[in-house]
Amino acid sequence: MIDEKLEAAHAEVLRRNPGEAEFHQAVREVLECVGPVIAKRPELAREKIIQRICEPERQLIFRVPWQDDRGEVQINRGFRVEFNSALGPFKGGLRFHPSVNLGIVKFLGFEQTFKNALTGMPIGGAKGGADFDPKGRSDDEIMRFCQSFMTELYRHIGEHTDVPAGDIGVGTREIGFLFGQYKRITNRYESGVLTGKGVAWGGALVRTEATGYGIAYFVDEMLRVRGETIAGKTCVVSGSGNVAIYAIDKIHQLGGHVVACSDSDGVVFDPYGIDLAVLRQVKEAERRRMSDYIAYRPRATLRAPGSIWQIPCQIALPCATQNELDGRDAAMLIENGVLAVAEGANMPATPEAVRAFLTAGVAFGPGKAANAGGVATSALEMQQNASRDSWTFEYTEKRLAAIMAKIHALCFETAERFGSPGNYVMGANITSFERVATTMVALGLT
Ligand code: NDP
Repeated sequence: MIDEKLEAAHAEVLRRNPGEAEFHQAVREVLECVGPVIAKRPELAREKIIQRICEPERQLIFRVPWQDDRGEVQINRGFRVEFNSALGPFKGGLRFHPSVNLGIVKFLGFEQTFKNALTGMPIGGAKGGADFDPKGRSDDEIMRFCQSFMTELYRHIGEHTDVPAGDIGVGTREIGFLFGQYKRITNRYESGVLTGKGVAWGGALVRTEATGYGIAYFVDEMLRVRGETIAGKTCVVSGSGNVAIYAIDKIHQLGGHVVACSDSDGVVFDPYGIDLAVLRQVKEAERRRMSDYIAYRPRATLRAPGSIWQIPCQIALPCATQNELDGRDAAMLIENGVLAVAEGANMPATPEAVRAFLTAGVAFGPGKAANAGGVATSALEMQQNASRDSWTFEYTEKRLAAIMAKIHALCFETAERFGSPGNYVMGANITSFERVATTMVALGLT
């Protein structure tokens, strides 16, 4: 429920942003949590912090023309939503997927603002991307698209202004093409302008693994306060991209047993445990489909998409995309005895699913907190770039683990302080909102 004092601001967001369902959903979740903060701090209402925090500082939409391998001209639409720079330069990934539109980029940028605040690092929030489908495209086509995208984006970004990174469809290959074009146009080797770079050209060790590893650390923390551990638990992970692969990796390292993962064509169930080496070979090296995984693993089977949450497990990690786990899926997971659910993707659980998990007492880690390890490690990459240094894998991973433990502790303590023990959704939203709002007040009317 949204506090009645926030109803008018909420109605205004809906009116000003028609048809942007995902953005509405993300705003609603935050507003449902922050009523008690507004009640305690009247200056936030006076300064219209809710209204300002829900309005991006800047929104860019641009044409991305490029030529495919047959010489045909293709036109895509590029986006960058610079949501909030109170805490530092805008920071957030780029998504290349046919579903990308302004509403999706705004929801992601809004979420990113709070997630970045939770990390405690000096970074604001942004998100961007294009309705470009990289599937089936050659390396040359990907390069031409990235070069055209950056030919417009370069004028809006910079290490002190806005620092993009990867997201769905954007990995080290794409960041390489984007960085190369930025360097060429600006005549500057400005490492800190993008994160997720290759290690040879300014990238940080652990960035590739960071989001997935961070999720496993967060789950470990949630289970620990309940007297449990990951060791010996059965786990299901949706998706098979960057986040999913390294969540599986760390869950295995911590003694868990991941039996299923997926892509948009289907779900692979591997009763002996997902073989990480095979998964990485198929998805990272060969850029093929999960259906190709079963050729290497005779006992593994392929199921229809969408059915992954029917597989009984104690830990469920949705790591693919928004709204991929609904109320029915949650009911099924609860019936099958799930103990912990952590959002690897951004907003993968629908509001009905989140409510069901909280009501059933399942340990539920919202994406803002559970998947913040990726952007936190991006901020560590920026630190290394600024000091022209490069840290070891062990040191960087230790920093990541400490950041995730701190985020967990903050969310846990805040939830208790506001009378909702164990509710990490409340904890994450209130902690991050307070940080952004307090700084916005300090910076005056901007
Ligand atoms: P990738 O592009 O590497 O992988 C995405 C994976 O999700 C692919 O396996 C893809 O399958 C699958 N997927 C996408 N849409 C669907 C769908 N509708 N149904 C089933 N599977 C689907 O992206 P990432 O791993 O980087 O990102 C995954 C999620 O994590 C996103 O929500 C992203 O915003 C979030 N995130 C990512 C971070 C990062 O550091 N990369 C940081 C924090 C959050 P297919 O190939 O068939 O499309």
